[in-house]
Amino acid sequence: MWVRKRIDIGWLDLQSAGLNCVLPGSRSKAGDAAEAAWSTDGRAFACLSVRSGLDLALKAFALPPGSEVLVSALTIPDMVRIIEHHGLVAVPIDLHDEDVSPRVELLEKFVTKKTKAILVAQLFGGRFDLAPFVEFARQHNLVLIEDCAQAFEGDRYKGHDEADVSMFSFGPIKTATALAGGMFRVKDKSLLSHMRELQAEYPVQSRWFFLKRVLFYSVLKFLGGKLAFGLFVRTCRLLGKDFDEVLNGSIRNFPEDQFFASLRLQPSFPLLRLIARRIRRYRNEDLDRRAARGALLASLLPREHCPGSAANPHSYWVFPLRVFNPPRIVAALREAGFDSTADSSMQPVEATDGRPEAVPETARVLLKSAIYLPLYGQIPGSEIRRMASILVPLLAVEEVSTKQPASIP
Ligand SMILES: *Cc1c(COP(=O)(O)O)cnc(C)c1O
Repeated sequence: MWVRKRIDIGWLDLQSAGLNCVLPGSRSKAGDAAEAAWSTDGRAFACLSVRSGLDLALKAFALPPGSEVLVSALTIPDMVRIIEHHGLVAVPIDLHDEDVSPRVELLEKFVTKKTKAILVAQLFGGRFDLAPFVEFARQHNLVLIEDCAQAFEGDRYKGHDEADVSMFSFGPIKTATALAGGMFRVKDKSLLSHMRELQAEYPVQSRWFFLKRVLFYSVLKFLGGKLAFGLFVRTCRLLGKDFDEVLNGSIRNFPEDQFFASLRLQPSFPLLRLIARRIRRYRNEDLDRRAARGALLASLLPREHCPGSAANPHSYWVFPLRVFNPPRIVAALREAGFDSTADSSMQPVEATDGRPEAVPETARVLLKSAIYLPLYGQIPGSEIRRMASILVPLLAVEEVSTKQPASIP
């Protein structure tokens, strides 16, 4: 069985992380080293997670309460939760189906005097050109935040020069994971030092907590390669974790105070060391291999079933497939040894009461009809072709049965 997702970390990374949990070392040196590994221009900022860093950035921006933030209509719900916690209103901006970029014409439509920021998300491993958003933000004097949590590209992209903040995640399901962690590029140096000061007031994540995390994901990685999927899920449950929560690194069910307490920590020494190690040692070839598998699969499937596949560059962090009947296709794939899922860590951003016209229809449809195919560099091209050969007739039958339901016996 090709499981839906593999944790993207090596045994040596885990070993070294475990060791760093018990070795002495300077946190501030480790932080400097991690940031220098990302970029030497003094604009990198290491934090506990993208969510932690966004929370810090919003604290530092201190936008007036009631300000509006134009947000890519598809993102993880925690991002909206954090925006709202700061007294801000998230206004969803629907996406183009082809490359999942936000629709610029909707920015024009929804911008008001109260609009203070834009948050755009680079989704599924693809990336769109930020230039029109930079231009729009400049025209309207808005803060521009770029969410690259799904768009790690090795040393090829470290955030847009003109974005105020670009955010990369090293969370458990992300490319080149450090089991946690965020790395930001912050354009304005005074904003950056403000964020550092705010972060310095936080308690430090405990090494013991991080060691437990390293051990947990080591077990998961070991089992992930060996067990059938059902057994794997049950093992997660035995270890006290919900599988999707594990994969998504989700803490969305936490009550408000606990949620923010869990975000408002400084990264520990071993976490900073692991982030630095992952950045320094990452090989772009790993990304290229996955990208090639994704491009191959997309080339074998009808374009209209592959939302986001027009993004360029595209590293296929995940491969969403549009289908009419997700459970049926998931079952057929499982039968053939491909574990896919209709579950997503993302949700469409809700339109607020004052803005019923902002309902993001494309994002809603995309999410409702998408399943996520297993896709990583270790799956050989022949297996990708086999997956496509199973899917093509299934998709064709779906097509016919939805267009002419009466003609199917
Ligand atoms: C994973 C993810 C995040 C959160 O990243 P963390 O580092 O876990 O906080 C934010 N946005 C998107 C689009 C993501 O996929």
